[in-house]
Amino acid sequence: MVTDAPPGDDPSGEDGVFVALVPMLRRVVGARVKDPHTVEDLVQETLARVMAAGSRVDPDLLPHYASVTARNLVASMAEKNDRARSRSHLLAEPTDMESPAADVLRQEQRELVSAALAQLPAADRDLLVEHEVHGEDTKTMAAGRGTTPGAVAARLSRARASLRVEYLLVAEGIEPPTDRCRPALRALSSGDQRRQRELDVRGHLLECEACARISHELFERREPATDESVVRVPVSRDADVVVARQKGREVAAEVGFSAVDQTLIATAISEITRNVVKFAERGEVVICLVSAEGRRGIRVVARDVGPGIEDAERAMTDGYSTYHGLGLGLPGARRLMDELELDSVPGEGTTVTMHKWLP
Ligand SMILES: [Zn+2]
Repeated sequence: MVTDAPPGDDPSGEDGVFVALVPMLRRVVGARVKDPHTVEDLVQETLARVMAAGSRVDPDLLPHYASVTARNLVASMAEKNDRARSRSHLLAEPTDMESPAADVLRQEQRELVSAALAQLPAADRDLLVEHEVHGEDTKTMAAGRGTTPGAVAARLSRARASLRVEYLLVAEGIEPPTDRCRPALRALSSGDQRRQRELDVRGHLLECEACARISHELFERREPATDESVVRVPVSRDADVVVARQKGREVAAEVGFSAVDQTLIATAISEITRNVVKFAERGEVVICLVSAEGRRGIRVVARDVGPGIEDAERAMTDGYSTYHGLGLGLPGARRLMDELELDSVPGEGTTVTMHKWLP
């Protein structure tokens, strides 16, 4: 079967097999996850995955396969959340760093912090130790250095940003592969957007696997601080599809879309995000609120560095799907949204831009 029809369009046909899995999947996921929106996102994501594998799975084993897929997806989400939580007390607030000697941190983390400190330039390290360990105030430190407390505070803030980068590098066991990595990660960590542009950090993140991984952690920490209406989701693995989907739903709700439209938007987002995971392995999805000519809506941009799409025109026609004919494909995503633009350079990558406007 080669079709781009969304699941459920034809309950009597082959898709009916997949739709019939939904109640079971809701039970499996619902037993492990409380939030009903998250349950629905995980169910939809499982379904998409099962459909993609459909032709390779024995129909009798489909419910079993679906249930295992759902549980794996729940587990990978949980692992992601645990990892973010276990580090959050160290990385969330600068004040959390104020007494590394006070036995607040577990031994393992103290060791990681020491190793990270050792990677900093001596001036930064001295500054942090003086302030955070010896409790010296910025005024005294400024006097000793012939500068102003404001300048010391700014340098401390940059030093902390560098420390967060070094901490994550040590914790993840990553040695930055290029000279561009550390400056890029530091600019990202400090939130210095001018510096990020100078260094083309976005471009670097799409090319450098090590930095993409670290930025993922940095991004999770910084997320609450970013502009609420612009959400950036780095995409490199399956769980990211669900995250992109959830963020899309949140922004759509913020814009004022109905519950039904929120679901359609979320589905279009998971469709284009899944393509990034499957074909490019690395990229990002940026979701934001837009207003233009008196209209309000949502914009979703998925960018990747990957093989690109050889025949972009054909990719946009029904019946053609890069996903073994069973995903909605780009035409499906376009039907769910108001506008979809595809910009792909073979050998370089693909950018998909979608808009949906409030009625
Ligand atoms: Zn790098």
